[in-house]
Amino acid sequence: MLNNNLLLIPILFLPVTNARYNPSILIIGAGPSGIAAATKLLKNNFTNLRIFEAENRIGGRIRSVKFGDSFIDLGAEWCHGEKDNIVYEMVNQYDVLMHTNLSYKLVYSNGKYIDDEVYQGLLDFAENIDASVTNEGTEKNCGNLESVGECFQKLFNASFSKKYNTEPQKLRVSLDSKDWLEHYTALYDSTFSLLDLSRKSDYKRCEGDLRLNWNGRGFKTILELMMQKFPDSSKQLPIDNKIFLKKEVTRISWKGNSTKVLVRCFDDTTVEVDHVIFTPSLGVLKASYKSLFEPSLPADKVAAIRNFGFGATFKVAFHFPKTWWNASELYGFVWSSDDERRIIADFPEGPIKNGKSWLTASVKFFQAENNPKVLIGFFAAEMVPELEKESDKVITDGCMYLFKTFLGANYTVLEPDAIIRSSWYNNRHFRGTYSYESVKGKTNGKRYPQMLGMPLEYENGTPAVLFAGEATHPYYFSTVHAAIETGYREADRLIGLYRQKV
Ligand SMILES: Cc1cc2nc3c(=O)[nH]c(=O)nc-3n(C[C@H](O)[C@H](O)[C@H](O)COP(=O)(O)OP(=O)(O)OC[C@H]3O[C@@H](n4cnc5c(N)ncnc54)[C@H](O)[C@@H]3O)c2cc1C
Repeated sequence: MLNNNLLLIPILFLPVTNARYNPSILIIGAGPSGIAAATKLLKNNFTNLRIFEAENRIGGRIRSVKFGDSFIDLGAEWCHGEKDNIVYEMVNQYDVLMHTNLSYKLVYSNGKYIDDEVYQGLLDFAENIDASVTNEGTEKNCGNLESVGECFQKLFNASFSKKYNTEPQKLRVSLDSKDWLEHYTALYDSTFSLLDLSRKSDYKRCEGDLRLNWNGRGFKTILELMMQKFPDSSKQLPIDNKIFLKKEVTRISWKGNSTKVLVRCFDDTTVEVDHVIFTPSLGVLKASYKSLFEPSLPADKVAAIRNFGFGATFKVAFHFPKTWWNASELYGFVWSSDDERRIIADFPEGPIKNGKSWLTASVKFFQAENNPKVLIGFFAAEMVPELEKESDKVITDGCMYLFKTFLGANYTVLEPDAIIRSSWYNNRHFRGTYSYESVKGKTNGKRYPQMLGMPLEYENGTPAVLFAGEATHPYYFSTVHAAIETGYREADRLIGLYRQKV
């Protein structure tokens, strides 16, 4: 049982026989980085620790929810890559990851499937301007441009006009796909605008399969594995009684000339500890670094918080009485310019920006793994914050309008009987989905993830507040493997420190 009522428990850390070498440690946040740090410390006999988690559940941006026949993920969904991916390395032997085997289909608003060659051309275009890929042609044409958005605008029309100069139908469909492709590109970096996405990035992809799914078990499996609840729950680490839910930290007071950090919570309880490991998202830091830390954070950390990018995407899942689509297909929806003009008259509900409805911001829909009655959808870019605030009815009706427009010619579209959706941006414990290299972040020539990860130190050089979390990873930022590696990194920092003292 996780403990969600700290008031029943004395807020003193249990005395230990050798207090000098069993320091009191508070981990803020029970997402993958917090759980990684805690489990590594526990395995190294650092037992005087607690985790304060603001939500009423653990997992952070891993949120696996039972929906339909199995678990779906409203947060992290795929293990991205195999080589040097700590998630893959930890679970590989248990045979829980599956290759995602979907046939990608782009559908036009007249209900016809877009030629596979056109679709592939669009994906190649997006791949070539991706900041983590070095492409000679893109470098030549966009070398002087800072953002993916500028490069996109410069090359898109020219490249498809050249490619299809003798095939007017393919040209028209490609040009109509521009809006969809912009949202597709924005989705992967979870940015609100491609103009804010740097063309140069230190992000590294792990080699191997980039879309390994959990076959209906949920990404939560990695948390269970770290806590040793999976595969054999009899071996679980004694962690549950160290996790305090609904325990939101509001103030972290650290002083160079002290040897303790004082932490205050929303419920007014306080604790004093030797070390804090801070893991909340960059979004949380952006929104509240001024009030969270006393004294104020150093200037370089503030610059990193302000300049590294953090955006959001929107996920929705529908449960239907039965499968009515083709289970092996993943759908992207492209509006013809004529049909796009009609959307607002046909379906005026929901966010509209620059004359465009949120229904132009969908990127893909596909069947959840091992879950034949569930369709998952993704929306991206600037309308996500507003979209999260819409009612279930508007989201459901809008998506039904999409399904009927695009798939109604080939399938009998059924009404869903349940909906579940994400709200990462409007939740103050996240303020978005994951970090990315922004134009501001890059052009200043600084390495912001490293600056985010630097500890705040006491005058004697000992770390007082340590920082973990995906955005502090120098090149895997934005992923679960980054979060776990950084949790281990900060645990190791303390383990190394006390090993020196023995
Ligand atoms: C929609 C979506 C899709 C994604 N897809 C993928 C994917 O396919 N593959 C992948 O590898 N990654 C993916 N990610 C990214 C991945 O989920 C994150 O990188 C990772 O979970 C970050 O872990 P973390 O421990 O750094 O932070 P978090 O998971 O955010 O954990 C931090 C914890 O701190 C808590 N907290 C916040 N403020 C306070 C406070 N004041 N006091 C106490 N606790 C607090 C939060 O509630 C949270 O539980 C996705 C994320 C989202 C949201």
